[in-house]
Amino acid sequence: MQVPLLDLRAQYQSLKPELEKAILNVAETQMLILGKEVDSLEKTLADYCDSKYAVGVSSGTDALLMALMALDIQPGDEVILPTYSFFATAGVVARLNAIPVFVDSDPVSFNINSALIEEKITEKTKAIIPVHLYGQSADLDEILAIANRHNIPVIEDGAQAIGAQYKNGKRVGSMGLIGCFSFYPTKNLGAFGDGGLVTTNDEQMYIKLKQMRNHGMEPKYHHKFVGGNFRLDALQAAVLNVKFPHLHKWHQARRDNATLYNKYFKQYCLSEAPGITEFDANNKVLLPKAVFADSNHTDNHIYNQYIIRVEKRDELRAFMSEHGVGSEIYYPVPFHRQECFAYLNCNDEDFPIANACAETSIALPIYPELAKEQIEYVVKVISNFINP
Ligand SMILES: *Cc1c(COP(=O)(O)O)cnc(C)c1O
Repeated sequence: MQVPLLDLRAQYQSLKPELEKAILNVAETQMLILGKEVDSLEKTLADYCDSKYAVGVSSGTDALLMALMALDIQPGDEVILPTYSFFATAGVVARLNAIPVFVDSDPVSFNINSALIEEKITEKTKAIIPVHLYGQSADLDEILAIANRHNIPVIEDGAQAIGAQYKNGKRVGSMGLIGCFSFYPTKNLGAFGDGGLVTTNDEQMYIKLKQMRNHGMEPKYHHKFVGGNFRLDALQAAVLNVKFPHLHKWHQARRDNATLYNKYFKQYCLSEAPGITEFDANNKVLLPKAVFADSNHTDNHIYNQYIIRVEKRDELRAFMSEHGVGSEIYYPVPFHRQECFAYLNCNDEDFPIANACAETSIALPIYPELAKEQIEYVVKVISNFINP
């Protein structure tokens, strides 16, 4: 049996006529930059993300970059963020010649460990960027309390977690000053290429972000500050407008798949329930835990990724590959170990959880169209490797 990590064609097939109609409509009207499709997407997603305002942008990376530019982050300013995330979270800080300050991860959620944030705050700290990794919220109550005590703005990196609900039921991106999202094709709401979104509840910030997206221009050819071309294509917005009504169903299908994985792992190779953090004889596979699952909010985890941990991770990946099962490592190298950040002189021992995750984590196929039999097969393959 073949089980790819992701198969975007399945989703395309299910929406083909509507998508083609929307794309051709943009072609017919030749309204290619911003316009009606982008406006409509912004309204829909601001509402969905529990935010007053949303601005469609060119990518998740540009959403983060623009957010930092809107906060006027200067060279030498410090920005606190998790060491374990996709590169963009740290890259945007370094691009502005500001200093990324890394924090280790929480051992259960792999999100930023909020208990380690306050000790990193200095007079130069100008922002905190929690990442809602794999599709569930970081511990925002704690993070916002620290940020408020020190009067530091919070930018939420929700690139992997659009629609995910925190324990209070609010969707990520609505609780910090600015929320950032990505429509990269592998995200739960994926475009036909690059795209992103920023959200905010602050009207002044909204106005600034909207201008920032278009070279800081307002009115035409007058520039109060320097922005960039961070615009979302009308074509991408048209695709996303067709896809959005299905997002809830896709989130649910991913959650159902996660539940099946948990069930089959228990059946085939585990004696204990998910959420255990230590390897031992009975727990050779550590399963992900939806930490806000008790909150009764449906989207407590949207499973952009389903991540297990195993000790012989690289051998397992090779074994899975031999048996037709796709997988990926998100992420093998935390920021403090990246060559481009060697100048920060980080101490590797300060990040034991992120290091453990980088060395043992593996992402399994979790996309909505997976069949039950495929999930069972993936677990059987892993079981055959763990208990030969
Ligand atoms: C995907 C991702 C981004 C960047 O989004 P792009 O649209 O690919 O630029 C940023 N942060 C995280 C955590 C991501 O997963």
